[in-house]
Amino acid sequence: MKHFKDLGLAETVLKAVEAEGYTSPTPIQAQVIPAMLDGRDVLGTAQTGTGKTASFVLPLLNRLADDHQRPAAKTCGTLILAPTRELAAQIADSVRAYGKYGRQSVAVVVGGVKPGPQIKAMARGVDILVATPGRLMDHMQGGAIRLDQTTTVILDEADQMLDLGFMPAIRKIMSKVPAKRQTALLSATMPKPIRALANDFLSNPVEVAVETVAKPIELIDQSVILVDRSSKRRILTETLSSNDVERAIVFTRTKRGADKVQRFLADAGLSAAAIHGNKSQSQRERAIKAFK
Ligand code: AMP
Repeated sequence: MKHFKDLGLAETVLKAVEAEGYTSPTPIQAQVIPAMLDGRDVLGTAQTGTGKTASFVLPLLNRLADDHQRPAAKTCGTLILAPTRELAAQIADSVRAYGKYGRQSVAVVVGGVKPGPQIKAMARGVDILVATPGRLMDHMQGGAIRLDQTTTVILDEADQMLDLGFMPAIRKIMSKVPAKRQTALLSATMPKPIRALANDFLSNPVEVAVETVAKPIELIDQSVILVDRSSKRRILTETLSSNDVERAIVFTRTKRGADKVQRFLADAGLSAAAIHGNKSQSQRERAIKAFK
């Protein structure tokens, strides 16, 4: 089994990895970290749960540990694009956790919150910028950030960004980054438009594909209950009221459905919150915090 110290990572990065309690790199980390440290482009097929975030964050921090030059005002050295606000915030949390013995700066740029603090965070330049494509475009157009000094780009969950209609924005953003750069694209699936994106923006990439580490079937008892529409509420309330259930996530087909379920669960005395795209960012954050 490989060890993190065999991968050529800097001392400050290794110390943070150890502090996280990781003993050995996951398969994607064992393949992506050396490739990125070599300066290669990477095309990775990997889902959440494989350790993909650390596979690109650790080499980024490594580079900053080796050679830290302050970025110029309104520029970023590394750009990480992610499909959702939550994922962007999670990636930034990982940068902070794995970078706790380093001196890198990180900023998050996402929609649904006021732009002012984001503009301020980018004003003096930032080492690692984590962004969703729409809001980043707004800031580029407003002159708050330019990408002409960016040397590394990570496209995380590229297939999700495709599904959310971000492909035109991503192509516009990529056209503003110098051609001489390192690019990594990670995606759970590789449909044709993602392949095309990789062909256009990656240069001779190392290709890495990993299976999900845990197949749900091994960890989760699954069952199906066939019910009439009229008894759904009662059965859901009973199921969730059982002593075996400490915390639960209920998925609904629509946003309105989520609100309805939240209301009837609350009426039944269960503490519940709904989260979906029509909720404000602060509502979403509050719901996730309460759930945690
Ligand atoms: P990700 O696939 O990036 O969403 O990561 C999934 C989870 O695995 C996160 O909670 C990480 O903290 C954790 N993780 C990442 N790398 C390792 C590792 N080498 N050993 C143990 N856990 C890890």
